[in-house]
Amino acid sequence: MYPNDSLENWYKGQGLWSDVAPEDWNNWKWQLKNRIKSVEEIEAHLELTPDERAGCLFANKKLALAITPYFFNLIDREDPDCPIRRQVIPRSGEMKTSPEELLDPVGEENTKPVDGIVHRYPDRVLFLVTDRCAAYCRYCTRSRLVSNAQDYNFHPEFESGLEYIRNTPQIRDVLLSGGDPLLLSNRKLDYLLGELRKIPHVEFVRIGSRIPVFLPQRIDEDLCEIFKKHGPIWMSIHVNHPRECTHALREACERLSFAGVPIGNQSVLLKGINDDSDTMKSLIHRLLMMRVRPYYLYQCDLITGSAHLRADPRKGIEIIKSLRGHTTGYSIPQFVIDAPGGGGKVPINPEYVKKVTDEAIIMRNFSGEEYSYPLVATASDTPDPKAPRLEPILS
Ligand SMILES: *Cc1c(COP(=O)(O)O)cnc(C)c1O
Ligand code: SF4
Repeated sequence: MYPNDSLENWYKGQGLWSDVAPEDWNNWKWQLKNRIKSVEEIEAHLELTPDERAGCLFANKKLALAITPYFFNLIDREDPDCPIRRQVIPRSGEMKTSPEELLDPVGEENTKPVDGIVHRYPDRVLFLVTDRCAAYCRYCTRSRLVSNAQDYNFHPEFESGLEYIRNTPQIRDVLLSGGDPLLLSNRKLDYLLGELRKIPHVEFVRIGSRIPVFLPQRIDEDLCEIFKKHGPIWMSIHVNHPRECTHALREACERLSFAGVPIGNQSVLLKGINDDSDTMKSLIHRLLMMRVRPYYLYQCDLITGSAHLRADPRKGIEIIKSLRGHTTGYSIPQFVIDAPGGGGKVPINPEYVKKVTDEAIIMRNFSGEEYSYPLVATASDTPDPKAPRLEPILS
């Protein structure tokens, strides 16, 4: 389906907004101000299906609707099944809750020592610093609080989170998330990163953000200066489909890389969007071309109203199997399921180990052939008298 990932095929330009002055188009505040947020605004550009229309009208009770003009351009307006469209335009499926679905699918509320901090793993925390995003993903695992459509009333408050981190010496890794931390002003980011980097036990900070994908204009010189100043900063971006790899995203990743920010990607496996090997292979190849290392491929969490987007996890295993050995090792993400109820991320892998005996590991390689690796060294101190005598190389 995606035979050619060469840069000529990557999206470029202002699309539907060709008449907007480039200074405006490239200004992230203009992009935010001109987001598409209502049925009427969408319908000015494309024809919604009745199913999408119902979903859009319901959206404000679940998770707000917003799409940046930049990202809207990537939608195929003729195709209701367009993989970009399905990520950001609601469908009626959001109104249906299946019995297995939860408001807090990965049990974050149970590991919350103070507001905004999720402390599940011993040495690192998730620090939720805002509930806003540049655009909203219809399968968002934090839709209970993101965009405040459900009246969660999350009031991000840095001080109690910072205080908790200062007082908890085992925290060596802080992951800023939300919402999208890069929607904070440069002044707030500078303050927050500065305070975190002052804490002696915090070795580095990570930022989880979809801003490079929804709003690459935000990754400007001033922001990069802040990252340089407070580094090491690592970033996890969130690209799901090769069509999201545009020239603008590539340039944003380049600016981040040149500012010393290593970038990983976290994708969510989504039904009919990226749950096949060809799409995933094209995506990960394009990521490497942008200096982005595929990090995780997530099974979609059991968030309420997500059944129409959740893929079969067996497809995830098949996809990883189709990649390992068949393409660059660097490009292969770890497939994980965030265990429902709060178990944390569990790696889900194709089976390569067939059997472990006292003598050997019996394994299959990428093309299914069987090999074994001995577990006990057979070399012995007492020379075997029947072994052929090796001539010394130097006499
Ligand atoms: C995902 C996650 C992390 C980070 O996990 P890594 O495997 O280190 O990327 C930390 N805390 C919580 C609560 C998480 O969900
Ligand atoms: S960008 Fe992240 S936090 Fe925001 S809606 Fe998408 S998945 Fe949720």
